[in-house]
Amino acid sequence: MRAPSDQSDQSASDRHPAPGGLLLCHDCDLLQRRAPCPHGGVLRCLRCGAELERDHADSGTRSLALAAAALVLFVISNVYPIVGLAVNGNVVQATLWGSVEMLYRDGMWPISGLVFITTMVMPATQIVALLWLLVPLALGRKPWRANVVFRVMGVARSWGMTEVLILGLLVALVKLAHIATVVTGTALWSFGALMIVLAGAGASLDVAAVWHRISPMPSPQDPERSEGSAAPLPGFTGATCGIALCHCCELLVRMPAHAGAVACPRCATPLHLRKPASLSRTWAFLVASIVLYVPANVLPVMDTSSLFGTQKDTIMSGVAYLWVSGSWPLAVLVFIASIAVPMVKILGLAYLAWSAQRASKWLPGERARIYRMIELIGHWSMLDIYVVTMLVALVQFSALAMIKAGPAAIAFGAVVVMTMFAANAFDPRLIWDHVEFDHV
Ligand SMILES: [Zn+2]
Ligand SMILES: [Zn+2]
Repeated sequence: MRAPSDQSDQSASDRHPAPGGLLLCHDCDLLQRRAPCPHGGVLRCLRCGAELERDHADSGTRSLALAAAALVLFVISNVYPIVGLAVNGNVVQATLWGSVEMLYRDGMWPISGLVFITTMVMPATQIVALLWLLVPLALGRKPWRANVVFRVMGVARSWGMTEVLILGLLVALVKLAHIATVVTGTALWSFGALMIVLAGAGASLDVAAVWHRISPMPSPQDPERSEGSAAPLPGFTGATCGIALCHCCELLVRMPAHAGAVACPRCATPLHLRKPASLSRTWAFLVASIVLYVPANVLPVMDTSSLFGTQKDTIMSGVAYLWVSGSWPLAVLVFIASIAVPMVKILGLAYLAWSAQRASKWLPGERARIYRMIELIGHWSMLDIYVVTMLVALVQFSALAMIKAGPAAIAFGAVVVMTMFAANAFDPRLIWDHVEFDHV
């Protein structure tokens, strides 16, 4: 891999940054002249309304403080039990790691792995990556391998699901309150705090400013460079001008003509004007998720054995149970997260891919909003997986009641992962490629 500051490469002269004073929308690819960003405010795309730039006041110190707090909270959350269940003087307590282990021992290793990765590995990676970048910068040094750390952090941010875990824990608590006395543990509160602190640390990170300190480039961060540059007028897109936006370091790079693979001159991330094979990859993941959606809803997601016999619950019968037992807000919540959200994602992405394939010009603004909504709601469908995980870990009173995860849990986890891959593979700029921009 090429080091970020490696300028000795022969082809480096081909991959020079685009002139300053320009902004390129990551969602619709429209090139725009840079306007001053209001203090503490946001600069939005003229065409699709996407956030182009945010004024982060005192970003470095705040991100660093929040990342350090997140590290402490993460350790507390994983050392102490989340919740305990008391039946006839017997108390069963569960930590997150204990729950993951229990699923693994029950032979549910795909679910165990999914829970382990999304609730432990990814949040930990995000915290370590933030500290890795911000601590050396606070000490006036440059972080080692910043480009790799930034890319890893991007993956960790989209696959870390602490907020969904919290909601899953709350649903599990209400379900358990019907069976036995629930004792909340320290980790439940610290997970709640971790969710808020981690979101804050991620949101207050100013990627462009951090990169500017690591490796300054004659880029849009240098407003004085904008003078005299041949800035295209609004209406031009990155693709028509051969300018690509680096998703890792936010540098605008002029793509050399007739080039195959091009790497960002600053962070060495491979650059493309459009995601390669976006539509065929989106369709492939969508077909896989449609196929898996059937067993996820037909097979049992949970087996409960008790003194009264064995009961197998599908996702829908679990919702019906919650409804009948009087917890209708939870019934609605689980129905939306587990049945409606995956369905909306599959249908929405199929529509977006189909309309992009037909080069549709119809309501691009609405279609862009559909894509943003799909990205936003994407991981909330993991809710039922976390509910099952907590129930399996806690309801282990061998004589009285035992809960085990059913085969639908694996199929359901796979649906969530496949729809997230599909949303990731789709390139939202395809929505706008055939739409003329008529803003004056
Ligand atoms: Zn835009
Ligand atoms: Zn870059």
